[in-house]
Amino acid sequence: MVERLNKEPDIRENEAFENWGGTVQTTLDHLLYAPKTVEEVQKFVESAKAADKSVRCNGFCHSWSSIFGDNQQYQISLLTKKLIKSRLTFQDCLDKAAKLKKTELNQIEVVGKDEATGKGLIRLGAATLNAQFLNWTNQQLSSGVEELWALPLNVIMIEITFAGSNAPICHGAGINTQTLSDLVYELEYIDCNGKLQKFKADSDSSKLLMQSASGCFGLLGVVTHLTLKADPMTYAHFTTFKEDILEAVPYPSDYDSQINGSQLPREVKKAYSKMSLQDKQQAFAKFAQRCEESYYSEFFWFPFQSKSYVLAWKNDANKSDAVGNHLSSKLSEIGSAAIQAIMTTAQNLIPKDKRQKLEVLTAKVFGTLAMAQLKTYDTSVQLMEALHFRRGIQNFEVLDMEVEIPLPKLANGSIDWSIAHKAWWDVIMRVYEIKKKDNRAPMKVALEMRVVGLSEVTLSPFRVNQCDSQSDIGAFCSIEVLTIGANHCTYESKDEYLKEWETFCQDIFERWCKYRDYNGNIIYPRPHFAKQWEFLKYVHPETKVSQDIKTYLKNTVLKERIPQFRNDLEEIAKQSNPPFSFEDMKKRFHNQTLSEFLFSE
Ligand SMILES: Cc1cc2nc3c(=O)[nH]c(=O)nc-3n(C[C@H](O)[C@H](O)[C@H](O)COP(=O)(O)OP(=O)(O)OC[C@H]3O[C@@H](n4cnc5c(N)ncnc54)[C@H](O)[C@@H]3O)c2cc1C
Repeated sequence: MVERLNKEPDIRENEAFENWGGTVQTTLDHLLYAPKTVEEVQKFVESAKAADKSVRCNGFCHSWSSIFGDNQQYQISLLTKKLIKSRLTFQDCLDKAAKLKKTELNQIEVVGKDEATGKGLIRLGAATLNAQFLNWTNQQLSSGVEELWALPLNVIMIEITFAGSNAPICHGAGINTQTLSDLVYELEYIDCNGKLQKFKADSDSSKLLMQSASGCFGLLGVVTHLTLKADPMTYAHFTTFKEDILEAVPYPSDYDSQINGSQLPREVKKAYSKMSLQDKQQAFAKFAQRCEESYYSEFFWFPFQSKSYVLAWKNDANKSDAVGNHLSSKLSEIGSAAIQAIMTTAQNLIPKDKRQKLEVLTAKVFGTLAMAQLKTYDTSVQLMEALHFRRGIQNFEVLDMEVEIPLPKLANGSIDWSIAHKAWWDVIMRVYEIKKKDNRAPMKVALEMRVVGLSEVTLSPFRVNQCDSQSDIGAFCSIEVLTIGANHCTYESKDEYLKEWETFCQDIFERWCKYRDYNGNIIYPRPHFAKQWEFLKYVHPETKVSQDIKTYLKNTVLKERIPQFRNDLEEIAKQSNPPFSFEDMKKRFHNQTLSEFLFSE
C-alpha cells in the first residue's frame, strides 16, 4: 500500500525504495520526502523514536551498497521522488537545480573566512545538489563578487547531494586532494532524541573528533547542514587526450614474461615488442609526471579499445581565459543516453538464448561508441566546471566496484607507480582472457583509474593505517570497474547477470590484493564504501585464507580505526548539548550492514 498520509510534510507509509543502480530494494515503514525545514526532520526523528524504528537517509540514491534504511524502518529522502527518478541532461539538470524551491535544507551561504588558512567557510544545506553549487559558483563569477570560492575536489556527477557524498566519504581526483569529508568544518544534525546539534572543528581536540564525525555514514544523526572549507576560486587549464593504451598507462615491466602468453590483442603485443627500453622509460616518466604534477589525473579504458582517454590537467589558467567558458556537453550527453538505448534495444532484438554469446560484440560496440563521443579538450574553465566534466552519466545506470590501492614509496622516496600499472593491466588482461576462454564480457562499460592523496578521516579508505605501517604510502590508486546496470541487463536471469559480474569483481579484487611494496610487504586495498563491496572476499596472498570483506576490514584495514571511530562518536555524544546516549544513537541511526561492519566485534 502506498499512501500519502498528509499534504505537508510528504510522509508515505509502506513505501517501496530502490537505489539508482538497482542493487538495493526495500520497503520502508515511513518515508519522508523532501523535508523543507529542520523542524520537519526533527519531528520525523521523534516519531521514529516513538515507534522504536531506525532512521536512515537518502540523497540522489547513487550509492550501490546497503547504506540506506532496512526493511520496515524509517527513511528521509532529501529530495522529491520525482527528482530522484528524473533522467535529465546536464543542462536540464542545471536549469532544474536553478528552479528548485529554496528551502532551509538547500541553502548555500558564505559564513566566514579562516584568516589563518585563507579558506572560505561555505554552509550548505544537506539537500544541496552539486548542480546547485556549480550554478552558485557561476553566478558568483558573473555577478562580479570579489571573493570567489570553489571546492578543491568533488565527485563528478552534478546530481549528487552534499550530505549524500559526505556520509560515505566520497572523493574526486588529484594527488593533492583528499575527500569531501576532509573538508568538513561544521556539522549540524538532528540527534537520536530529535534535538538539533552543532559540532564545529574549531579546536585541536574537536578537529580530531571531526575526523570521525564527518564521514560517519549518517550514524551520528540526520545532517541538516554542513560547513565546508573552500579554496579561493582557481581556473583549470583543462586538457584531455586519447592515447594508445601502451602510452596512456604503461604496461608493467614485471609482466614482460607474461605478455606473449597473454590473450592481449596481437597488435598490442607487437607494439610492445617494438618499444625500446627508452620508449618504455619515457612512458613511465610521462605517467609519473602526469600523476604527480597534474591537479587532476584520471584514466579510462572502454572495452576492447586500442586507445585510452586521459585527463591530466593543471589548475593554473588565467581567470580572463576561463570566465564564461563551459565544457560543451551535448555530444557526450546524447552519446550516453543513446548508447544505453542502442545497447538495450539491439540486444532485445537478439533472441534471448543468443544474447550472452553476443555480449563481446555488444561490449565492443559500446566501447567504440563511448570513445567516439568523448571529445579531447585544451581549454580553460573555472575549477568547478572542470571537476564536473563528465556529463550525461546520470542517464546511464551502471554497476560499479571501486577499490583504493595504497601506493607505497620506493627506496628513493618516489611513488611506486608500477602498482597502478599492474592494477590497470590486470583488468585489461583479465577482460581479454574471459573473451578468449568464454566469449564473454562481464565488464561492459569501463575501467577507470584516478590518483587520490591521503585522507585524515577515520574510516576513509584513503587513510594510512597500522596495516600500512611497513610501507611508506605516498598516494592511492583509486581504480574501478563498471558494467551496465542490472535493471538493463538483457540476460534471461538477472541473478545470473549479477553472479557473472560479482565473480569478475572478486577475481579482479584478488589480483589487486597480491601486490607488495619494494621490500616485499603486502599492500592492503580497501573498497569505496558507497560502491559495490559487500559480496567480496579477501584472499590473503600468502596463506590463501579467505575472509569475508567485513572481517578483513575489521581485523586488518580498520583494526584500530573502528574502535577509534566508536570512541570518538561516544565522546561527541557526551560533549553534546544536551548530551545523548551512544547506545541510543546506534539504535536510532544504524542499519544491519553498518552494525555488522562497525558495531559488532
Ligand atoms: C555515476 C556515478 C558517479 C560517481 N562518481 C563518484 C566520484 O567521482 N567520487 C566518489 O567518491 N563517488 C562517486 N560516486 C558515488 C557517489 O558519490 C556516492 O554514492 C554518494 O553517496 C551519492 O550521493 P547521493 O546524494 O546520491 O546520496 P545517497 O547515495 O542517496 O546516500 C548516501 C549515504 O548518505 C547518507 N545520507 C544522505 N543524506 C544524509 C543526511 N542528511 N544525514 C545523514 N546521512 C545522510 C545515506 O543514508 C547513505 O548512507 C558516483 C556515483 C555514481 C552513480
